[in-house]
Amino acid sequence: MSQRRAAARKSLGQNFLVSPGVVDRIAAAVLEKPLLPVIEIGPGRGALTIPLAASGAPLAAFEIDAALAQGLREKLAGCGNAEIVTADVRRVDFDAEASGRGWPRYAVAGNIPYLLTSTILIGLSALGGCRRAVIMVQKEVGERVLAAPGERRCGILSVYLQAFFDVSRVMTVGAGSFRPRPKVDSVVLRFVPARRPGAPGDRAAFLVLLKAAFSQRRKKLANVLAATWGAAAAAELAARSGVDTTRRAEQLAREDWFALFAAARGKSIV
Ligand code: SAM
Repeated sequence: MSQRRAAARKSLGQNFLVSPGVVDRIAAAVLEKPLLPVIEIGPGRGALTIPLAASGAPLAAFEIDAALAQGLREKLAGCGNAEIVTADVRRVDFDAEASGRGWPRYAVAGNIPYLLTSTILIGLSALGGCRRAVIMVQKEVGERVLAAPGERRCGILSVYLQAFFDVSRVMTVGAGSFRPRPKVDSVVLRFVPARRPGAPGDRAAFLVLLKAAFSQRRKKLANVLAATWGAAAAAELAARSGVDTTRRAEQLAREDWFALFAAARGKSIV
């Protein structure tokens, strides 16, 4: 007898993937060689979890909705390599969960609740064991993450995430691939950690600098920095870093940000 499905909970961002073609492409991106154990964020009804588990990869999926988590455990009964944990991902330490399972390296996958996008993406940068992440985000956010210096959309998320990852687009996903249908299209992004010479060691401090720098996007960076830290500090940052701060924040290259950050750290500004 089929059980009645609970209605999707909008507050938890429950838009479930129903397109097998999209699921296959996301699963293929997660399961690229070398095959890694997978941590999944928000498995929902298992659209992605089931094919990932079927690959044989060890998998731990964290779902906040206890009824969905239980339903998925039942669907995966007998599948020894998959574990569904009822938990709020905001309180889950993925590195600790992975090492507790004997996984020194792992992949992160998720068609995530869009309200948590920034928290989850920024959190990826703190993970020591994550070797690849494949994450679905709202299309407009994805375009911001991918934006290059000089592009109008270039902002905090672009500069911050590209400082620590090679980011690429796996595919664009139309709203019709979900039930209920969301108002916006989506994009699947792939994040691969990158070792970049000069990248900030203190990521939280780097975010402080970026938040200040992008707080008034239309103004020259020199004026924005002066408004936050004073004219003398702003001038010294420009002189020490060698960065031309007569430009707007969105125009700086990655190396400019690294130099500006090093100068700000040197002066204990951030
Ligand atoms: N992965 C499934 C799919 O593709 O069909 C579901 C995707 S749905 C967009 C997001 C899922 O994340 C939902 O199942 C929702 O209950 C879950 N979720 C929302 N907030 C969460 C949180 N803080 N921690 C863990 N899961 C969460």
